[in-house]
Amino acid sequence: MTTKPLCITEKLIAYVRAMQPDEPAILKKLGAETDTDPRANMRIGWDQGSFLMLLARLIQARRTIEIGVYTGYSALCTALALPQDGYILACDISEEWTGVARRYWREAGVEHKIDLRLAPALKTLDAFADPGHAGTFDMAFIDADKTNYHTYFERCLTLVRPGGLIVVDNTLWYGRVIDYSQGDEDTRAIREFNDRLRRDHRVDACLTAVGDGVSLAVKKGDS
Ligand code: SAH
Ligand code: CA
Repeated sequence: MTTKPLCITEKLIAYVRAMQPDEPAILKKLGAETDTDPRANMRIGWDQGSFLMLLARLIQARRTIEIGVYTGYSALCTALALPQDGYILACDISEEWTGVARRYWREAGVEHKIDLRLAPALKTLDAFADPGHAGTFDMAFIDADKTNYHTYFERCLTLVRPGGLIVVDNTLWYGRVIDYSQGDEDTRAIREFNDRLRRDHRVDACLTAVGDGVSLAVKKGDS
């Protein structure tokens, strides 16, 4: 086993970014507009976006769930990776931020794939709780309020099919997961989430150090 961990320096991250395939022009434009917002560090970068697209293609996703849209960058990545008749159930509470998202989804010609629900995500997910929707999604991306991660995960686990993939963002939480001087609610929620996931026998899971930590969980069972 490799014992000496790779030290991810800023220079190395810049190299990783430079070695990604070209970022589609529409994503570049949305990224640039988003980056004028003080909360822009909430959006995933293209290094994570290309990873998300690859995952969606890998499992040939048609129906996905997006929890936490912001200005729509990660949803746009997913939408571009879905087939023409693909469907994204997108959850957010911000009219303002998702207004930006809608503009770019339209420009990218993927608006028809995205069903944006402006309401607390739990409310939207609960409206999909009837057995008719269980197991009908291929993938979910969880990236909204951290204290609800566990609950979002439970809902998504019901909604994705066996073999379906749940992707959870920020599971290293800017390194705060190992800084025990940090006892705030969000940090504690992420630590608890990570600890639960590794013991969850309903899924095959892996915490990867991509971006700010991306956890992957595949639902067990017959596909
Ligand atoms: N996935 C996006 C970033 C999401 S940022 C990207 O990478 O581009 C987190 C988002 O979660 C914000 O837009 C915020 O409005 C939303 N959010 C926070 N609490 C929420 C809740 N209870 N229900 C739905 N969305 C919520
Ligand atoms: Ca995030």
